[in-house]
Amino acid sequence: MLLVTGALIATVVGLTTAADRAPQSGAAPRVSRSDRSDASVSALVKLDKANPQRDWTSIVLHHSATSGGDVAAIDKVHRQQRDSNGQPWLGIGYHFVIGNGRPMGDGEVEATFRWRRQLPGAHAGRHDYNEHGIGICLIGNFDEAPPTEKQLAAARELVRHLAQQYRIPRPRILRHRDVQSTACPGRRFPWEEFRAAVAALPEGA
Ligand SMILES: [Zn+2]
Repeated sequence: MLLVTGALIATVVGLTTAADRAPQSGAAPRVSRSDRSDASVSALVKLDKANPQRDWTSIVLHHSATSGGDVAAIDKVHRQQRDSNGQPWLGIGYHFVIGNGRPMGDGEVEATFRWRRQLPGAHAGRHDYNEHGIGICLIGNFDEAPPTEKQLAAARELVRHLAQQYRIPRPRILRHRDVQSTACPGRRFPWEEFRAAVAALPEGA
């Protein structure tokens, strides 16, 4: 999560109906659980040759700290944020979002404009991790309940794929709380299990 006010966080939940969705520029690539496979995750991560790749050196995991949400809802909230120069954010600060079924599909992965355009993130609260860290947000409040199994499976697959593609070493796969003073991604995110599962995934391919 971003360190925003409670009022702003509370608005996320109410902003998730189709009618509220902001028009998106270009088709947002999505992979739903039903058609997700390693091949489709790789298609999601794959970039247009027109977009030079950034030098990604870490992956930072977050929760939304809301019971539900999707890219459009988070985008709307993040557009109200201002950076240290007083400039409004361009939009959603994360590179990828993984839904929990409310309303975005459970385990559905969506790449945001920041990934497609290879822009720095606005998620970590630390310059180096925004510039070179891939921000992944799982929808949910993991202080209250853990992520769903489908979210965890999707996150493992995405993290493994990104780590391989950008040669990000496992110690650089981090939680938000590992880089900034925050509880994100929540007390009930099963971090040790997640790390062990990612470490056990085959390298190659
Ligand atoms: Zn966070």
